[in-house]
Amino acid sequence: MFRIGIGNDIHQLVEGRPMMLGGVHIPADRGGAGHSDADVLLHAIADAMLGALCEGDLGVHFPDTDPQWKDANSLQLLSRVAWLAHERGLHVVNVDATVMLETPKLRPFVFSMRENIAEVLGVEASVISVKAKTSEGLDAVGQGLAVSAQAVVLLGS
Ligand SMILES: [Zn+2]
Repeated sequence: MFRIGIGNDIHQLVEGRPMMLGGVHIPADRGGAGHSDADVLLHAIADAMLGALCEGDLGVHFPDTDPQWKDANSLQLLSRVAWLAHERGLHVVNVDATVMLETPKLRPFVFSMRENIAEVLGVEASVISVKAKTSEGLDAVGQGLAVSAQAVVLLGS
């Protein structure tokens, strides 16, 4: 059996917050606003996995009204979602994700992101794809106001 899911996330960029992407701290003068650590990449992947499981979305499982998840490490959130999949006898076949950020360039950090995600999901980094793009100066991402991510996850039994 195979199950596929899609996930999207966007966070506003604000001063005074660390920028976390794929569990990697990116040196930047601004970071994502949000209740947790605002790691859009991990949120998109976790949402895609929940979608594949038909288990609602991250907000259902980790409500932002719950103080337990304030500044939460999103690797822990993803780990919980991975556990839900394992409970159903499903494992990650592959992940394909894209992060949209105008600056800084993410390429030097992509391998560390893939390793972090692979470790939490219990797979090899070779099945985790992370692509980094800009918005060419267009829209909120392009104007440096936001960071966003999309992910597709395939689960198999
Ligand atoms: Zn998010």
